Amino acid sequence: MVNITFTQKLPEFLNKKLITFCPTCRKPIYGADIEVQRLINSDVNRWPVNFVHCHSYNQFPKHALILYIDSNMSVRGQEVSDFIKFEEK
Ligand SMILES: [Zn+2]
Repeated sequence: MVNITFTQKLPEFLNKKLITFCPTCRKPIYGADIEVQRLINSDVNRWPVNFVHCHSYNQFPKHALILYIDSNMSVRGQEVSDFIKFEEK
């Protein structure tokens, strides 16, 4: 849990940290995009967590980037889905 203590001291740094690029549209994904604050403050006890970031960028239609993020806020894996459906009531 040393890493979490470390990251709590650097929230602003993490918001600006370049996490990855979307492999489909090349959008840069920063810490703020994956809400690092919320991840750090959540009671996740199994890392990596998966985070779904839906976006459209560079004239690419909306798609979902699924990121597997470890407790250092580093990406351990990622995949893209073009098939998204939100059900809203
Ligand atoms: Zn993208």
